[in-house]
Amino acid sequence: MDSLTIQRIIDTANIVDVVSDFVTLHRRGVNYVGLCPFHDEKTPSFYVSPSKGICKCFSCGKGGNAIHFLMEHEQMSFSQAAEWLAKKYGIPFQKREFTDKEKALHKERESMFIVNQFAADFFAENLYTDRGRAIGLNYLKNRKFRDDIIKKFQLGYCPDNGHSTADAATAKGFNRDLLVKTGLCYQKEDGSLRDRFWGRVIFPVHSLSGKVVAFGGRIMKSDPKAAKYVNSPESIIYSKSNELYGLYFAKQAITRKDRCFLVEGYADVISMVQSGIENVVASSGTSLTNGQIRLIHRFTNNITVLYDGDKAGIKASLRGIDMLLAEGMNVKVLLLPDGEDPDSFSQKHSASSFQDYIDKNQVDFIRFKVNLLLEDASDDPISRSNLIKEITQSISVIDDPIVRSVYITECSQILRVDEQLLINDVNKRQREKYSATPVPARPAHRTEADNAELQENSSETETTKSTAVEQPAENSIEKLKSDIRALKRAGYELIMKKERLIAQYLVRFADKEFCYLEEEEQSITVGEYISQSLENDNLELVHPIYKRILELYRENANNPDFVSERFFISHPEEFVSLTAASLIEEPYQLSQIFSKSSAPVEEKLFELTTHIMTDYQYEIVHFEIDKVLKEIQDPATIENPELFISAHNRYKTLLNARNELAKKLGDRVVHL
Ligand SMILES: [Zn+2]
Repeated sequence: MDSLTIQRIIDTANIVDVVSDFVTLHRRGVNYVGLCPFHDEKTPSFYVSPSKGICKCFSCGKGGNAIHFLMEHEQMSFSQAAEWLAKKYGIPFQKREFTDKEKALHKERESMFIVNQFAADFFAENLYTDRGRAIGLNYLKNRKFRDDIIKKFQLGYCPDNGHSTADAATAKGFNRDLLVKTGLCYQKEDGSLRDRFWGRVIFPVHSLSGKVVAFGGRIMKSDPKAAKYVNSPESIIYSKSNELYGLYFAKQAITRKDRCFLVEGYADVISMVQSGIENVVASSGTSLTNGQIRLIHRFTNNITVLYDGDKAGIKASLRGIDMLLAEGMNVKVLLLPDGEDPDSFSQKHSASSFQDYIDKNQVDFIRFKVNLLLEDASDDPISRSNLIKEITQSISVIDDPIVRSVYITECSQILRVDEQLLINDVNKRQREKYSATPVPARPAHRTEADNAELQENSSETETTKSTAVEQPAENSIEKLKSDIRALKRAGYELIMKKERLIAQYLVRFADKEFCYLEEEEQSITVGEYISQSLENDNLELVHPIYKRILELYRENANNPDFVSERFFISHPEEFVSLTAASLIEEPYQLSQIFSKSSAPVEEKLFELTTHIMTDYQYEIVHFEIDKVLKEIQDPATIENPELFISAHNRYKTLLNARNELAKKLGDRVVHL
C-alpha cells in the first residue's frame, strides 16, 4: 500500500468510531474517555482525541493513530490494520506488486502452511482412531489434559506405521517436495518417504497469527535410543529462535496482565493454561534467544521465569536471564516447591491458589541470584570473589542507572561487601562492554580548533518475509529500542532528550512561520530554520527515530501538500507515526520558562525554536567538554606534549563556546 493511500485512510478513519468498536467511550469535553483495553483498570485513563485523530492511555502510555490502535488491540501487522480500515471506510487500495521471486517464495510459503495445516488436522483426527485413543489420547488423559484444552492446542497423534502422513498427503495431491521441506517426512536412501513423527503425540507450534509453522512430537514407546521429543527442522516458515510455544494463545492475556510467564516445555504451557493461567509461553527446551525476548517484549516489560527445584538447570539458565535484563525487562523468578514442575504443580492447584503462590513467592531476579549463589559459596576468598563477579555481571547489563544503584546498595548489604567495590566492578564491566560493542556514530560537532584535524523479526514470519516489504521488519521497533538503549549507555541520554524537543517542533511546527524576512519578502519556516541550523553546525541527530523524522522532513518539505502534523501522524513507518503521536500529546517542556508571555505558542515560535536549538548546542558542547576532559586526564595524552596541548586548546575553545551559549540562553530567559 502506498503512503498516499495510508494518509487517506488515516484522514478518513474516525478514531472515535474505530476505538468504539472495541471500547465503550464517554464524551468528556472535546475528547472521549474509556477504560484502557491494554491494561487492567477501574477508572478510565484512555483518551481519544477526534480532532487530532489519536488515542492514548495516560496510565500505560499505549495508543497512537487508528492503525496503531488496531495493531495493538488486534495484534495485526501494519498492513493488515491499514487494509482493515480501508475496507471499513470503502477506500480503494492496491496491494503492492510483487516481483516474480517474491511471488514464488510467497507461494511456497503459503503451500507449506497449507500442508502443515493439513497435517495438523490429520494428526488431530488420528487421536480418535482406535489406535490413536489407545496410545495418544490415553497418554494425554493420563496427563489430565481436558478435551477442550486438547482441541484448543490442536494436539494430535501420528500413526505408527511410518508412512501414513506421507500417504495421506500425497493422496490429497500435495507434492513430495513440500513434505520434505516442511520436515513432515524425510526421504530415505531408496527414495521413499518416511514420516518424521510416526508413533508420536503431536504438539503443533503456531505463529503469532495462528498458523502452524512446526510440530513437536513426543515419543510413546519406551526406547532409550530414541529422542523423547522430535521437532520440525528449520525452514523458510520456521525459525526456532524466533518462535515461542503458546504465544499465539497467550498474547492477549500477556497484554492484559502485563506479565508473561516463561516455562520450559509444551506440557507446562498446556497445564498452566488449563488451570486458568493463560499468559504463559515456553522456549521449548532451547536457551532463550534475543529474537524470543523481543517477541515477549512486544507485549510486556514484565516476565516471570518459573523454575522447578533443579539447581543445575537453574544455574544453566542464568545467562539467558541476563539477556532479559539487558533488553530492559523486569525479571522475576518463581521457584516451585521441591519435586514440582509447572505441569505437576498446576494440576494440583486451582488458578486462584496458583496465583496466590505466585504472588507470595515470586522474587526479583537479582536477589534470587545472590541468594542462590550465596548458598553454595564457602567463605574462602576466591569463591566469594567469583560470587561477586557473577552478581556484578548481572547488574552491569541493566540500563537504568537508578535500578542499578538500588541493586548495588542491596547486594552490598546481603554480601557484606563495600558498596564502592561493587560500583567499581559494575563500572568496569560496563566500560568493557561498550568497548566491545560498536560505538554509535557520534555527533559530528566541530569547533574551529579541531576542525583541521577532524575528519570524521520475527515474530510474524509469514508476513514479514514476503508481503510486508513496505514496512520494516516486525522486530525493528524492538531493534530500535535496543539501539537507543545502547546510545543511552554510551552517554547520549541528555543529548537525545534535547533532540526529542527538536523532533517535537518538527512534527508540530515544521510548516509554521519562524520569521519573515522583509528584504527577501518571504518567510522562513520552523523546519527550515532547524534543518539549516543543524547543517550550519555540522550536526547530525543521533537518536535513530528523530534522525529519521528530520530526514523525512528534508525529503518532503517542498511538497506543496506538506502539512507536518498530518504528514508525520499518518506516516507509514510505524515508529515514525507512533513517535509523532506521542510528541503531539506531550506538553511543551519550555512553557514554564516562557510563561511570562501569555501569547499562544504559535506566536512565540521564533523565541521557542531558537531557544531549543541553542539549548541543544549547549548540550552538545557539554558532551564534547566531558570527552576532551577525559582525554586530558588520560596518561597517554599527558605523556605526549603535542596531544596534550591540542586537547587543551580544544578544551579552551569549547569552554568559550559553552559560555557564549549559556549567555544566550540566560539572556533570552531574562529578556522574556
Ligand atoms: Zn492503558
